[in-house]
Amino acid sequence: MWVKLDCAYRGEGERVIIYDWKTGKRLTEDTSLQLSCYALYASHRWRADPAAVVAREYNLYHDDEREFPVRPEDLESTLTRMRASFDDMRALLDDVENNVPLLEEQFVRTEDPARCGTCKFLKVCRPEPPETAQPEEPGEET
Ligand code: SF4
Repeated sequence: MWVKLDCAYRGEGERVIIYDWKTGKRLTEDTSLQLSCYALYASHRWRADPAAVVAREYNLYHDDEREFPVRPEDLESTLTRMRASFDDMRALLDDVENNVPLLEEQFVRTEDPARCGTCKFLKVCRPEPPETAQPEEPGEET
C-alpha cells in the first residue's frame, strides 16, 4: 500500500501531527478513512503510538482547520476494510507475486448495458457500444 501525505511532523512529546490539505470539499466519510490510513502509516512506519497521532484537515479555501482524534476502533475498522480490499484485488490476479491479472475473458461483463454508460472502463471494455433495446416505431407490428 502506498500513501502520500501532504504534511506530517513530530509535535511535543510523542505526538505526530498529520495534515491533509483540502481546497473546497468538506470532510466526508471517505476523508475520515483517508486520515485513518495516514494514522496507520504513521504508527507502522514511524512507530508512533496511534493514540499520539493527530489527523488534521486544513481547508485552504475556507481557511478552516479541523482535528480528528484517531481512535483505536477507527484504526481497527480501517485495517479490516483495507484487508478486505486487498483480498478483493488479489482475487482478480492470476499470479499475485508478479501482479499478473486474470485473463480478460475471466472478467464477466454486466448483463445490464445501462450500467456501462458512465463506466470509466467503457472504452477498453466495450470498444463497440453495447446494444440496447431500440424503442418501437409507432404503429409497427410485432
Ligand atoms: S463497461 Fe464497465 S460496467 Fe460495462 S461491462 Fe465493462 S466494466 Fe462492466
